Amino acid sequence: MRYRHLFGPVPSRRLGVSLGIDLIPLKTCSLNCIYCECGETNNCTLERKEYIAVAEVYAELKDYLSKNPQLDFITFAGSGEPTLHSGLGNVVNFLKKNFPAYKLCLLTNSTLLNDKTVRDQINPIDLIVPSLDTAREECFKRLNRPHRDLQCEQIIDSLIKLRREYSGELCLEIFIAPGFNDKPEELSSLKSALEKIKPDRVQLGTLDRPGAEEWLEAADYQTMQDIASYLGNTEIIGKFKAGPGIRTFNDSYSRQIFETLRRRPCTVADLKALLGLRPAEIQKYINHLLAQGKIEIEHRERGAFLKIK
Ligand code: SF4
Repeated sequence: MRYRHLFGPVPSRRLGVSLGIDLIPLKTCSLNCIYCECGETNNCTLERKEYIAVAEVYAELKDYLSKNPQLDFITFAGSGEPTLHSGLGNVVNFLKKNFPAYKLCLLTNSTLLNDKTVRDQINPIDLIVPSLDTAREECFKRLNRPHRDLQCEQIIDSLIKLRREYSGELCLEIFIAPGFNDKPEELSSLKSALEKIKPDRVQLGTLDRPGAEEWLEAADYQTMQDIASYLGNTEIIGKFKAGPGIRTFNDSYSRQIFETLRRRPCTVADLKALLGLRPAEIQKYINHLLAQGKIEIEHRERGAFLKIK
């Protein structure tokens, strides 16, 4: 079966071995973050609808999960904001009913959490990772470039509501963008917001892959450590750990590499961990995709990233 809405399993910095479910077409989101790995948002919207047919997602999940793959999480993520899909709750219930052994995770930008229907739909999820990069309106506009109807304060209020209603694990993620949200007044506001939201954990990340804007740089490790200790209860997200014995599900490695890179740039090491192939063998597929002009290389601090052209 050719999978159009599942991707990976992806070796994730946060989640170990995670099978991704992508419910949203590239690149549909309520934000247009300067660091987005998926590139510029071309459909900036708050409209919830069935962007892709959930019946297709059910069929792919049944096919893939019936092989009992070893996974740490099944994660709603991908090419945009997952909570924009109106059928998110149905997919959550489908998985909980038919494949209860798997833990579910949602990566969300928090912007739709003000909607009680959204909060109810995501309530059965085991781990919710909402992001909040700033508590100040001006920085929110520059860093996350939101839909015109969004306000930072309202997002913080909705995260407080979610925390009250949700009993699963809430791990708030903050992306540090040097020159944006690393200033003392920014961090002080963020700390106050965190004290009100009360997440179980806070994770701090910075640029690890090429983002939407080429000029954006990563924060250095010392800055990350200083911010983490100031905010408290905060860990810095490290590089991913790959699990043993991961099997890929696409019969064509070349196609799987391409599908993975379509969603996020990766290094050869990332792909090696994902596919379980020898580096020389991976290189063969990469050379083929480079020769076809489908992918290109971008050099970053963490190494050479392969990305879709
Ligand atoms: S990083 Fe997430 S929230 Fe920001 S634009 Fe990309 S998909 Fe949307």
